[in-house]
Amino acid sequence: MLQIKSFTFNPFSENTYILYDETKEALIIDPGCYEKHEKGILYDFITKEQLNPVKIINTHCHIDHVLGNAFIKKTYNIPLWFHEKEEAILLAVGTYAPNYGFAQYQESTVDHFLQEGEIVNFGNTELMPIWVPGHSPGHLVLYHEASKNCIAGDTLFQGSIGRTDLPGGDHDTLIHSIKDKLFSLPDEVVIYPGHGPTTTIGFEKLNNPFVGKNARN
Ligand SMILES: [Zn+2]
Ligand SMILES: [Zn+2]
Repeated sequence: MLQIKSFTFNPFSENTYILYDETKEALIIDPGCYEKHEKGILYDFITKEQLNPVKIINTHCHIDHVLGNAFIKKTYNIPLWFHEKEEAILLAVGTYAPNYGFAQYQESTVDHFLQEGEIVNFGNTELMPIWVPGHSPGHLVLYHEASKNCIAGDTLFQGSIGRTDLPGGDHDTLIHSIKDKLFSLPDEVVIYPGHGPTTTIGFEKLNNPFVGKNARN
């Protein structure tokens, strides 16, 4: 059975997720750990649960979601996967990280470009990547159909959506990709966002001020 453990790291309050199942194989999604104690929290959980991390996936490559990539790659010697359209976004992080106060930022490099529909396996678990651009050009969400859970990065939040004023962002694209892609999932699907608490597709269809039924656009 799929287990989802969340952590909130770095000054952006970014949600990092560890997904694992009964085999103890684990996927680390958007490792945002930066400070030594944050890295320790992630490391200690993996050790205590006796997990075997097999890959890192970035839903997208904004700084808050990639701060721990290099630490995880080095510690567990595992590959980093994300969508091709995020490579330029990751490369840019090194240039602006010091201005954001992350003087100790360590670069990481991609090992595999993940495409929409290319099944991600670990243990007995299969995840389906869905391309939901708009917040970032190559943003993927990871959907686990069997348990109706979706790791959604910065696409859909409880009562909000991802910002689109960063380079590569586009508001109309985000609105359309949420409505076309995420809102075609069942209402009971639980959304695990990149920031803030979980929500469901059904709740956001009714209540979200940007993409819900009473939205103005
Ligand atoms: Zn982002
Ligand atoms: Zn974020």
